[in-house]
Amino acid sequence: MYPRVEVNLNKLKENANFLAKLSEKHGIKIMGVTKCFCAIPELSKALIEGGVEYIADSRIENLIKLKDLNVKKVLLRIPMQSEAELVVKYADYSQNSELETLKLLGAKALEIGKIHKVILMVDLGDLREGIWPEDVDGFVAEAIKIEGIKIVGFGVNLTCYGGVIPDENNLGRLVEIAKKMQEKYDLDLEIISGGNSSSLYLLLENRLPKGINNLRFGEALLLGRETAFGNFVNGLHKDVFILKAEIIELKEKPSVPIGNIGMDAFGQKPHFEDKGIMKRAIVAMGRQDIDPSGLIPLDQDISIVGASSDHTILDVTHSKREYKVGDTVEFVMEYGALLRAMTSEYVKKVTV
Ligand SMILES: *Cc1c(COP(=O)(O)O)cnc(C)c1O
Repeated sequence: MYPRVEVNLNKLKENANFLAKLSEKHGIKIMGVTKCFCAIPELSKALIEGGVEYIADSRIENLIKLKDLNVKKVLLRIPMQSEAELVVKYADYSQNSELETLKLLGAKALEIGKIHKVILMVDLGDLREGIWPEDVDGFVAEAIKIEGIKIVGFGVNLTCYGGVIPDENNLGRLVEIAKKMQEKYDLDLEIISGGNSSSLYLLLENRLPKGINNLRFGEALLLGRETAFGNFVNGLHKDVFILKAEIIELKEKPSVPIGNIGMDAFGQKPHFEDKGIMKRAIVAMGRQDIDPSGLIPLDQDISIVGASSDHTILDVTHSKREYKVGDTVEFVMEYGALLRAMTSEYVKKVTV
């Protein structure tokens, strides 16, 4: 059945192994981030076999799917108060920035006889989640009074909202804050987490500030690239996930529509370049399944013309292959397209 994503488990495991080994050399343990593939257990297991120390996801539903896997589980997104009970039950750790939520987590943890481990997020300029650096001291002073939780780490998230690139400066600041809090409040710190796949370049260039002992990798593991500059990393597979879609129409048509141009299916006014008569293939897959701007055809002579909800139009004029109706076309995906494909219930997922 198509469309489908074929996941090469062996390549996924090799990517995890490559990053785990590289990190280990620098005294760093890694979290394998599973949110981009909805934490499918088989894929999560491949990450564990490859050597990730923790499994991390932004959604508690995904960690619940993995309840039977014997691995440390981390909730990445700041918990909702309404999910506090599930969080302490199914996550061993969560990342936090709100005292009121910590109080709830502590209370729920005590109810089930657990101590919930907490990583405090510090906002070092990206302006998504995190405690403002000047406020960390006051926050910790209050947080250590809460029963049922234990502060085991500090972390930062960068290059997500603000596009801020991790460097010696901001990550150095995180280490400095963590060490200061550790001394002042006698904390037993297990984790100083220096970010996501955008911090990988620092590791590769041996520039990660001393003291960072944890990184959280999603995209690097899955697509083989660091995300500060978008470079593919030698030694990592970039084709773990292959998307296949089936051609349902193949015809020669003009490249510019005929008639007065109003709006397309998404309310945008489209623009067209006249490339003359084009050999156009329609594959049965659309914006409900993928993000067309993040698809890269493996046949390099194909280009993507556009997509509506359920159809994607390809220009196959210059392909060396003679496509027929019923043939499949293969793509690799960028992060957004992969995310949508893996969350679309219409896209089948198979492991190879
Ligand atoms: C998604 C996420 C990650 C992983 O990011 P990648 O860029 O895919 O490596 C790490 N930390 C947090 C808090 C996240 O939400």
